[in-house]
Amino acid sequence: MREKAKFLMIGLFLLFILVGCGTSGYGYGNGETNGDTEEDNKLEVVTTYSVLYDIVKNIGGDRVKIHSLAPIGGDPHEYEPLPLDVQNTTDADVVFYNGLNLEAGNSWFENLLGTAGKKGDNAPVFRLSQNVDPMFLTTEGNEGEEDPHAWLDVQNGIKYAENARDALIKIDPEHSDDYEKNAENYINELEALHHNAFERFKEIPKEKRILVTSEGAFKYFSKAYDFEAEYIWEINQENQGTPNQITRIVDIINEKDIQALFLETSIDPRSMEMVSRETGIEIKGDVFTDSLGKPGEEGDTYIKMMEWNIKTIFEGLTN
Ligand SMILES: [Zn+2]
Repeated sequence: MREKAKFLMIGLFLLFILVGCGTSGYGYGNGETNGDTEEDNKLEVVTTYSVLYDIVKNIGGDRVKIHSLAPIGGDPHEYEPLPLDVQNTTDADVVFYNGLNLEAGNSWFENLLGTAGKKGDNAPVFRLSQNVDPMFLTTEGNEGEEDPHAWLDVQNGIKYAENARDALIKIDPEHSDDYEKNAENYINELEALHHNAFERFKEIPKEKRILVTSEGAFKYFSKAYDFEAEYIWEINQENQGTPNQITRIVDIINEKDIQALFLETSIDPRSMEMVSRETGIEIKGDVFTDSLGKPGEEGDTYIKMMEWNIKTIFEGLTN
């Protein structure tokens, strides 16, 4: 058993190298689809993007084999599933998505579920944002729609972990002890992370607690950690700011005397660079919002991406 695990680890390591060299980040989790018997016993799981991949991986541990749809660095709002995604979703024992309007662009996720025969009340498809208090968009044309970025508040990350645990137990009750134990350990870590973030941010003077990002992804984060969130555009649709949106944020930055800008790792930098030129205010760092970092690099787990964000935001607003 131990030999087998070691063999598997080496195999996975080699596959990660192959995947890392061969394609530009796509294939997170795909390397695990070669079937030996150990692999065949695992629960086949599909998640819609990398943040959910990591949360479910922490709860499922060795019991799950996960295929993540939107690639690292990619945009889960708008995604075009590939034939492999359709295949994996068709074969999946369980599918996890964020909900709250995240996977809504072009109805890509709904269409994928339809193609994969995973629609209907009894389909093993679970929304990880269950029990989250939704926040809502306010810009014209999107008013009243739910804002998806709940995971940027770690207290919601804990809810995601609980929902993943409950779903895995429902689908695979035989291994409920494993899922309970993994969830307990992971949730303890998340609670410590939330507490540390809260304590650290207390040191930032109230008037400096304004976050400016390209997409308005920090609503939940700002509510949890007492920030004000400003943005070029409220939710990813076109992924470039319009001239009106640029003018609007430039005015806000000048009026509020904002001294720091932040750029998201999964977003085209050009709009924020233009805002930086127009205002003379520096981009203080990259933050993770809709994607983890690449395996082996900064922010390659949910906990690490949040730790990175906390550090980058703290330093950007205090230096
Ligand atoms: Zn987003």
